[in-house]
Amino acid sequence: MKTFKGISASPGIVTGEVFLYLDDTVQVPKYDIEPDKVENELERFHEAARKAGNELRDLQIRTSASMGKEESKLLDSHILMLKDPEFTRNIEENVRSQLLNAEWVLYSTIRQLVNTLEASTDSYLRERTIDIHDVAQRVYNHLLYRDKISLSDLSHEIILVTHNLLPSDALAMNKKFVKGIAMDAGGKTSHTAILARSFEIPAVLGLSNITGHAKSGDRLIVDGNSGQVILNPDKKTLQLYEKKIRDWQRREVELLTLNELPAETRDGKKIYLRANIEVPEETDSALAHGSEGIGLYRSEFLFLQPGGFSSEDTQYAAYSRVLEAMSGKGTVTIRTLDVGGDKVIPGVAGLDEKNPILGWRAVRFCLSRKDLFRTQLRAMLRASVHGKLQIMFPMISGIEELEQVLKVLQECREQLRNEGIPFDEEIPVGIMIEVPSAALTADILARKVDFFSIGTNDLIQYTIAVDRGNEKIAYLYEPFHPGVLRLLKRVIEDAHEAGIPVAMCGEMAGDPYMAVILLGLGLDIYSMSSFGIPEVKKIIRSVSMSEAEELVGTIMEMKSYREIDSYVRSWMNERFDLAGT
Ligand code: PEP
Ligand code: MG
Repeated sequence: MKTFKGISASPGIVTGEVFLYLDDTVQVPKYDIEPDKVENELERFHEAARKAGNELRDLQIRTSASMGKEESKLLDSHILMLKDPEFTRNIEENVRSQLLNAEWVLYSTIRQLVNTLEASTDSYLRERTIDIHDVAQRVYNHLLYRDKISLSDLSHEIILVTHNLLPSDALAMNKKFVKGIAMDAGGKTSHTAILARSFEIPAVLGLSNITGHAKSGDRLIVDGNSGQVILNPDKKTLQLYEKKIRDWQRREVELLTLNELPAETRDGKKIYLRANIEVPEETDSALAHGSEGIGLYRSEFLFLQPGGFSSEDTQYAAYSRVLEAMSGKGTVTIRTLDVGGDKVIPGVAGLDEKNPILGWRAVRFCLSRKDLFRTQLRAMLRASVHGKLQIMFPMISGIEELEQVLKVLQECREQLRNEGIPFDEEIPVGIMIEVPSAALTADILARKVDFFSIGTNDLIQYTIAVDRGNEKIAYLYEPFHPGVLRLLKRVIEDAHEAGIPVAMCGEMAGDPYMAVILLGLGLDIYSMSSFGIPEVKKIIRSVSMSEAEELVGTIMEMKSYREIDSYVRSWMNERFDLAGT
């Protein structure tokens, strides 16, 4: 038995069998073949292509069942490529003429194709390169007899142990069978952590080297509440954890009894609790946890799946689905594409930067790819007839940037009017406050928009200069840092002064230890992973505004993170039975 301490990234406790997932990159072998071995070589290629085609068709059926028909169509182009007679003829001719092995010929043919597409002026063609890499990868795996199980092919329950997981891997994995996640890398607000919480999978990240100790088939306990992972536990430990699991499940059921009750303080202040979602199906979980709307739909996850950028119609279908599901329950806030940082759309040229966190992200990317931006805004506007939509722009850093995005939105509205396509003319438009320069000019920005939503994951990252996904400096990621608290206070006051409401959709909004402080600071709307809603609601219903304001008054006088952190934790622990650390 061996215990590891990491970062508790998604709550819940689970025990199960390890599945060690190491994503090694393929080395493409190159060797000559004799002329009489050409037919053999071609047969090997056809067989590998057939298997890759079957794999893709299976994946398409599963995607259709879990995410809808529209999403599964993204794989059509992959399947068509394998069937394309010109593509096959190219490989055959090259093997015959160059007398080289099929892996190498496939590799060089694909490289040529990708180079041609990347040089194209047509953005649609450029973006197809990612599909081509995906298809080629599958064929290589079969050519090299790599029996590599992809995360989408899992067929029994496992605990995923891995070094790092891209958001696109996390989306593609078969979530039904992933019971827990233990990972070397990652911090509490990394996008893997956010997805794990959304999918309600207990996760411990930042374990440094769990992959160096665990083997597939080992037994593992993942305690997402305390951040502990126990490898091959003894019988006594296992029994102890089985009891902890039962207690946790009981507590979850009790919290759900609050669903029908409003989030209202003891002295009658109404607060709105909304859900953050990454994929449309999550609206079920949002409703099951009593959410009053969607405070953040991270639309970029639609683009991190096979197929890359989605068409206007595909986006329209996804947005409409969310709006219809939430109709009558509350507003749906869709955020425009926030790629870049750790959300890299594989294969998109230019997103592979030296300093991505400070780079070509979010609206910066959209303003230089207005074709993609307009497609998305048109899809959102069109979908607005299906419910109560709000549009939100991420990573705004100042007034000029805000004016530019508002101008593009205005152009899209005019286009649709000219085309006679209906949309809601009264859609509220807001921005995320997640860059310190925006927080410090909140008074100016507030006069241009209908609402703010504070993105503390990035705001903390940029204020303290601490990479939110880097486990080595995770100790510096301090939500109670006086610098952060002062910014929050200022943003909320400036927004209220201008008469607009303030939401928070960073992970801080779902942290039970922050709930009373945010109340005292005057936050109007909390948006978080769905399962966090009942606990925050319970806290809000148990306190009064005057208590919350008094707590804020006390901590705003304190000088250090440590002092505030320990004061707030003991204040909260005296009053509430909170899970986690
Ligand atoms: C944030 O930065 O707090 C936020 C909600 O956006 P994301 O986590 O997607 O960057
Ligand atoms: Mg952000």
